[in-house]
Amino acid sequence: MSAKNLILVGPPGCGKGTQSARLLEVHGLPQISTGDILRQAVRDQTPLGLEAKGYMERGALVPDRLIIGLIEARLGPKDTGFVLDGFPRTLAQAEALSEMLSRLGREITRVFVFDVQKDVIVDRISGRRSCERCGNVHHVRFSPPKVEGTCDRCGGALVQRPDDTEQKVRVRLEAFDSQTAEVIPYYARLGIVRRLDGERPPDEVFSVISAAL
Ligand code: AMP
Repeated sequence: MSAKNLILVGPPGCGKGTQSARLLEVHGLPQISTGDILRQAVRDQTPLGLEAKGYMERGALVPDRLIIGLIEARLGPKDTGFVLDGFPRTLAQAEALSEMLSRLGREITRVFVFDVQKDVIVDRISGRRSCERCGNVHHVRFSPPKVEGTCDRCGGALVQRPDDTEQKVRVRLEAFDSQTAEVIPYYARLGIVRRLDGERPPDEVFSVISAAL
């Protein structure tokens, strides 16, 4: 069977991260999340992190020139497949990705687009609490930690990401509409887009994804 090379596209809080984790667990597909890579770079205070930090805290996209180079080194072997979570987020990133994959003799096989209404997103994200140490995500109502303020996975402190406040979420949604949504028609013309109702429970969304792989 040919490798499954997937892209998950959707506004913040649509469930991309949750579904990526399931795709790894069940189908063995490694997740490449540019958001996670950038947050790690910010924690490590690398040159990339120092430059990206201000954009991220404002809820703005990090410039394409900093992002595009992050992906190639993280693609695993050709027959393993991958899930891109949060990339590409602009048309320029999508075009650079196509160029890179064709150079490597690889191609995107499916693009899943998550549809979720804005008020649902604001509700989901403003209750989100992330582990300072490992990045694991809890939610004050939907997946509370066993011990308040403490990550179930590693025992680190749970905090609200600086870009998870309601005001920043609205900026991020605006960035999605004005810069990211245009990648959808880019892939639709290849006939590989599958839209999902991201407001359904995660198990149901995962079944739809699995069936469409
Ligand atoms: P995420 O965790 O995917 O919501 O990403 C958090 C933040 O990281 C975004 O709001 C952007 O500031 C930045 N970011 C992540 N991925 C990208 C990307 N592909 N292009 C530009 N900025 C990105």
